[in-house]
Amino acid sequence: MGDNIKEVIKTEDGNDVERLKAELEETKLKLDILLDNIPGGVFSYDADSGKFGYISRGVLSIFQCTEEQFREQYYNSFDVFVNKADRAMVKEMIANQISFFETVELTYRVKDMTNGIMWIYHKGRLVNNEDGSRSFFVVISDITTEKLAQQRLAEINEKLYMETERYKLIEEAVDNTQYDYDVLEDVLTTSRKDADGNRITIRDFRKQNMYKAIINEEDFPAFSKAMREALKEQKKGVVEYRAKTDKGEMRWFRLNYASFEHRDIVIRVVGSEKDINEEKLRDEELKAKAGKDGMTGLLNKTTMESKVEKFINSSDPGSCHAMLMVDTDNFKSVNDNLGHPFGDDVIRFVAGSIRDTFRETDYVGRMGGDEFMVLMKDTTPEITKERAADLNKKIRRTFTERDISVGISCSIGIAFFSKDGRNYDTLYKAADQALYEAKEAGKNCYRVSGSGA
Ligand code: GH3
Ligand code: MG
Repeated sequence: MGDNIKEVIKTEDGNDVERLKAELEETKLKLDILLDNIPGGVFSYDADSGKFGYISRGVLSIFQCTEEQFREQYYNSFDVFVNKADRAMVKEMIANQISFFETVELTYRVKDMTNGIMWIYHKGRLVNNEDGSRSFFVVISDITTEKLAQQRLAEINEKLYMETERYKLIEEAVDNTQYDYDVLEDVLTTSRKDADGNRITIRDFRKQNMYKAIINEEDFPAFSKAMREALKEQKKGVVEYRAKTDKGEMRWFRLNYASFEHRDIVIRVVGSEKDINEEKLRDEELKAKAGKDGMTGLLNKTTMESKVEKFINSSDPGSCHAMLMVDTDNFKSVNDNLGHPFGDDVIRFVAGSIRDTFRETDYVGRMGGDEFMVLMKDTTPEITKERAADLNKKIRRTFTERDISVGISCSIGIAFFSKDGRNYDTLYKAADQALYEAKEAGKNCYRVSGSGA
């Protein structure tokens, strides 16, 4: 093409208009060469409609396509060119910058011809056209590699922070097992060593549901809930569970964990697991020694019996004490529908509600399963019925977990010392019979021995 122009100049020499035309052609050509050889590309688009005007070869070589393909891919529109996620930001930044400066400068993402994400550096200038329209003239370059390097740097920083956190956890207890879970790779690295002294690493940790085989079934819901939460967002937490050791023994463990996000995605969870079996057993033992029920902290059956017996035997026959038998209604359906561990929580809830309803000096015990006994000392029938009604109200409740709802309530049987019995056994029988009557009457109510009310 350059040779052609020279020829034109040669043959048409002396003709001013033709010479000017030729000079213009040459200038245009030089500009074309310049635009095609700068690192990056140039395009223009209409400031109002966003329609592309000029598109340089540099742009096409960035996107590895023809001009026709380029215009088709982006519907010939700058607005479509910018990746959806960045459109609003780009629009706002251009409007902002142009109100202060003559040029705009920004980076954003675009989807290339194969729908891969590309980072673009964009420097544009607003130009008034002769016909009154306005266009942006823009120089772009592909900065994907630099952006990725930048991201990598941020990742390294993040990792550094995580390592620090991890060492903090390690410092807390050296005999703990350390876990480091790479969420994206689904690889769990542990501080435990195999026979050859290499760190044990588990691939496809989540995909294989590895922990399901190790964690006690009853504790599994609590464990997987903690796991779900840790994976949802950056979080620190603690969870206790029984798990099988390498020797196949079930022991109690406590896991302290922390999860870390990078660009709003949890990418890593680190944890420190401690064997707390001895601690747990000691706890249970201490509670049993103190005559307490391990799960609820209330008096256990044996202690309840002996305390009530002792108290009644030394009571004046003229005094009034009440024995209440409380049984949770429909408790089986809690276990059946929400799971046994949830059932345990409900038992603790019922136990706590009963404890809160009566005086410190009254005896409250768990007789087994979902059944409780209360001994109200120095009471009256009126106060007793009032308390029983309070308790009915407190315990009537609906528990919902993952769209499954189960309603519970309680039935109460009441017997009075000394009217219904002067020793533990007769009182217990009378209260239990009243409880049976409350259940028969449709549950969620109390019945007083021998009165039907
Ligand atoms: P009702 O309304 O007649 O009282 O029936 P219910 O469904 O409450 O069942 P019932 O009182 O006859 O039996 C209580 C059930 O509680 C039996 C057992 O499966 C369950 N259970 C007993 N101990 C525990 C425990 O420690 N934890 C849990 N989760 N369930 C228990
Ligand atoms: Mg029950």
